[in-house]
This record gives sequence, structure tokens and C-alpha cells, in this order.
Amino acid sequence: MSATGRRPAILGGAAAFPDGLPFVRPPVPPLERVTARLAPSYERGMLTNGPLVRELEARTAARLGVAHVVAVSSCTAGLMLAFRALVPSGRVVMPSFTFSASAHAVAWNCLTPRFADCEPDTFQVDLADAAGLLDGAGALLVTHVFGAPARPDEVERLAAGAGIPVIFDAAHGLGAFHCGRAIGGFGDAEVFSLTPTKLVVAGEGGLVATNRDDVAESLRMGRDYGNPGDYDTRFVGLNARLSELHAALALESLAELDDHLVTRRALADHYISALAPIPGVRVQRVDPEDVTTWKDFTVAIDPEAFGTTRDVLVRALRTDGIDTRNYFDPPVHRQQSHAASADRPLPVTERVATEVVSLPLYRSLSPADVDRVVAVVAGVHAEASAVATVAV
Ligand SMILES: *Cc1c(COP(=O)(O)O)cnc(C)c1O
Repeated sequence: MSATGRRPAILGGAAAFPDGLPFVRPPVPPLERVTARLAPSYERGMLTNGPLVRELEARTAARLGVAHVVAVSSCTAGLMLAFRALVPSGRVVMPSFTFSASAHAVAWNCLTPRFADCEPDTFQVDLADAAGLLDGAGALLVTHVFGAPARPDEVERLAAGAGIPVIFDAAHGLGAFHCGRAIGGFGDAEVFSLTPTKLVVAGEGGLVATNRDDVAESLRMGRDYGNPGDYDTRFVGLNARLSELHAALALESLAELDDHLVTRRALADHYISALAPIPGVRVQRVDPEDVTTWKDFTVAIDPEAFGTTRDVLVRALRTDGIDTRNYFDPPVHRQQSHAASADRPLPVTERVATEVVSLPLYRSLSPADVDRVVAVVAGVHAEASAVATVAV
């Protein structure tokens, strides 16, 4: 293995990336295309919730094959409004191995998260564990973790059996497919994010996809304070409108999505084959019937087989100039904001959270960059005990 590894900088080797390799570079389309797209709205003084927002909604609805897409100011706001539309009260069964905003949206609606464990290889919610919590629950929330579909048809069956709605946190999932069906059309609503670290970027923004007319109507009202147009607000909504400026950027970014996905998949495949010979490095498992976006390329480090821990590896990578993220550590039930809902053990989630690290993956990364990142990982494995001694 040391043949393909390079001496880690933490042991005195030359840094693999002396100028640093960032974790993410937002995929921004050319500015002149964005301004050209924006100009007609801008010059009419139409700055929010106008024709560009309508066009973004229509284009994404057609792409996803859903009846409605409602654009909102963020995925978090979209989740908050989806819960407002669908879940009047009760507990929401959901993973802890997700981003904090999934649980925040639940708590902002005065609903209580009930955390289920995750799977060690896919990192998706453990549906058997979730099924055991559904008695008396008000809803099910499932995240498509890192852009890989979370068995959405099984999730739908589980929710239907319990007679409760299901909302997908699809923040990472724009461009993913399960058995040939686009992520976006499952459950009662699926919510995407357009923030700079995601696949399609608006600066800030979100998209809620639903096939339910009543949910779409509630979302449209809800993003506008709960106002259907007569200023007699029907419920306590938000200002969660998407601006025309954000929609112009999102439309140009959306036009690049297919090329972007092809590049990400090629780079992920490159990572997978290059990492394969290194013991103790487990790439997120994606089932053959699924197409993921690889929103994050996340591996789990088994300290026994790899020779040292995730934390030591992360420190060594940083010394080589490589920026990473520990998504999702701490898991939500271990965060101070949701400590009150941490009422049962989640052994797999706790272990996986200590093992995961997301490596750089973005459009402007080259296969040679991937090789260099992997060579550092291989070098850390080859000299694991020496690295562990200095990385304290
Ligand atoms: C980014 C993210 C969100 C929040 O998206 P915003 O658009 O920033 O509100 C929610 N859930 C997951 C899983 C995310 O990664």
C-alpha cells in the first residue's frame, strides 16, 4: 500500500496541496448569464416572487415529474412550512444522522423529534428501528443522506401503514433517482436546498416538490405570511419568498445540473476505485437501483482496519492542505439544541458519527487531485501508528 501512498506532511513529507484544497467550491454559472437572465425582472422593479420564480418552479416541476414545486427562501423554511401544512401535532420519527435543520423545522412547529438509528453502510435511517417508533407518531421525516435515495418507496409504505404523512429532507437530492423515478416525487412533500454547498445554487433558496394540491396551496400561502391574497392570514406563516435575484442564479445553475452531475459521478467513481485497496475505508453504500448526486462524498474510517481514527486522519489531511468535513458529527440528538429529545440509545448513529469524513468533491476538482487526496489517505494508513503519535 505504501507504494501508492505518499509520506504524510504531518510526518515531514511535502504537503500534497501547498496552496490548500478547499472542501467545496460553489458551482457558480457565468455572471453575465445571471445578469442577462435577471435583467427583465430587475428593470421592471420586480424583485421578488415574480416571473423568474414562476419559471424556476415550472422547470423543476417538469424535470421532477411532480404536480407542484413551490420555491421558498431556504430548505429550512420549506421544511417548516411543509410540517405546518401536514402535521398538526405530535411526534415526528426521524433520523439523528442528518443536518440540524431537519430537526429544527420539526421543533419550530412545536412538534417533537423522535430519533431513529441509522444504518452503518448506507448511513440512511434504519427503517426497522423507525417502524418501532411509529405508534402514535404524527409524521415521518426521512433525509436522502448525501444525495443517495433513502429507499423512498419503503418509506412511503411504512408511513401509509401507520396512516401518517411523510416529508423528505431532499436538501442533497436534486438529480437523484430511485428505480428510475426522480427524487422529488415521493411522499407528501420533498424539500430541496439551493444554498451554496448544494447541487443547484441560488445563493440561498429552497424548493418544495409535492403532488398534493392542498399542500402546494398551503405552502404558497405560508411563504407569504399565511396570506392567500386578501391580507386575512389563514395561519401563522413566514416570509419565505424567493427573490427574483436568487431565482435568476438558480435558473442558470439548474441549466448546468446535468453536466455537473456527470462530473461529480465520474469523480466519485474515481475516488471509489482509488480508495478500494485501502483497508478500513468504507465508502457510503449506494444500492444499484439508485442514482445518487454525491452531494457529499463521505467515507467511514474503521479504526481497527485502517490503523488509526477518523480524527487522526482528518488532522493529517489538514496538514497536507486538504479540507474536509465530519458530516454529520455531532449527530442531531447529540447537539445541545435537541438534547431534550435524546431519550433513547442510538448506537449505530453514535459510532458512525465518529467514523465519517466527507472528502472534497466538486466540479473543478481534477482526477489528479483525487489521486493526490487518496495517496495521502494511503500514506496515513501505511504509517498509521507514527501519524497517530504526532497527531495529538
Ligand atoms: C443544507 C441542508 C439543509 C438546510 O438547507 P438551507 O437551504 O440552508 O435551509 C437541510 N437539510 C439538510 C440535510 C441539509 O444538508
